[in-house]
Amino acid sequence: MNPQEKAMYDILLLTPGPTPLPLTVRAALERPILHHRTDEFGIVFRELLAGLQDVYRTKNKVLVMTCSGTGAMESSVVNLLSPGDRALVHSTGAFGDRFAEILRAHGLEPVVLSEEWGHAADPERLRKALRSEKGLKACFFQHTDTSTGIVNDLKALSAAVREGSDALVVVDAVSGLAAEELETDAWGLDAVLSASQKGLMCPPGLAYAALSPRALKACAAAKLPRFYFDWRTMLKSIDKAETPYTPCVPVIVAQVEALRLIREEGLENVWKRTAELAAYARKELSGMGLRLFARDASDILTAAWLPEGTDGRALLRAMRTEDRICFGGGQEKLAGKIVRVAHMGAITRADLDRGLAVLRRRLAKAHA
Ligand code: PMP
Repeated sequence: MNPQEKAMYDILLLTPGPTPLPLTVRAALERPILHHRTDEFGIVFRELLAGLQDVYRTKNKVLVMTCSGTGAMESSVVNLLSPGDRALVHSTGAFGDRFAEILRAHGLEPVVLSEEWGHAADPERLRKALRSEKGLKACFFQHTDTSTGIVNDLKALSAAVREGSDALVVVDAVSGLAAEELETDAWGLDAVLSASQKGLMCPPGLAYAALSPRALKACAAAKLPRFYFDWRTMLKSIDKAETPYTPCVPVIVAQVEALRLIREEGLENVWKRTAELAAYARKELSGMGLRLFARDASDILTAAWLPEGTDGRALLRAMRTEDRICFGGGQEKLAGKIVRVAHMGAITRADLDRGLAVLRRRLAKAHA
């Protein structure tokens, strides 16, 4: 790299995905490419599947797709549902709304329960909705909604579904997996979707789906059209430690290394460390005089309102280009109004301190 290129890459990501890569994950990305129809690849792929089962806390099969998290979300819709099926989306922000959009794109008309942004999904509201909405095939939730920085009580939500219906519990854990508590089997979650570039500390490129026996049964009966995302094709090749099509091999190799790091630290210690960083971030941001956005705050990121009159887009751009710190901004109706500070994956207390010092200085200067 020439010095100009080097400078371009010299940015600390305090964003909720992609997150920074640990050094050994970066080193894994430099290994020569493996061919995906070989025994050598099979060894690595089996290690990936076992490591994913550990972070998902499941004995279920975990499928691996070459796509981003949204692809995994779409795969759950086309593999679990048929034309005319009824489904419910309990939305807590932009990513819940995305589930509704995907369902509509496939000709389905979901029942949408929307919470105020910053609030978690209310199990009581869900129970009430389930009493009046009969014959639902699936209920869709987020584990953490990255747009608002909330965490849902999936254990309670899943229990509410099970009390009132036979609907499948589908969870987007794209930003929360391996960062905040999630128990696929113990909480009875049927399809749990994730992606490589957040808590799993890898580059973007891979998405995952952990599937319960109930989800597998629904997949076999579902009638929506599907091809690339057909889980049935993936299930046929997974026992041979293969994927149906050419997978993103370098990210698979990197993911095995990132999962090794998580195993070494202990998953519960990762959750604990993330929670401690979150508590610290909330304290520091409040100490700067910023009002925190989420009532039911996640541990993966903290969202805070910027002071009245701040041009949030310009502030974030200046911090990125001049201070070399990249924060998340507000999405959709929150664009320019909030800052989202991530503290998941490989982000350390020292990284957070560096970023927060820059934010503190910029805000003090702007509002002096
Ligand atoms: N769901 C959640 C909760 C997310 O945070 C994201 C990514 N920000 C997505 C889905 C979509 O993932 P991708 O951008 O990888 O398609």
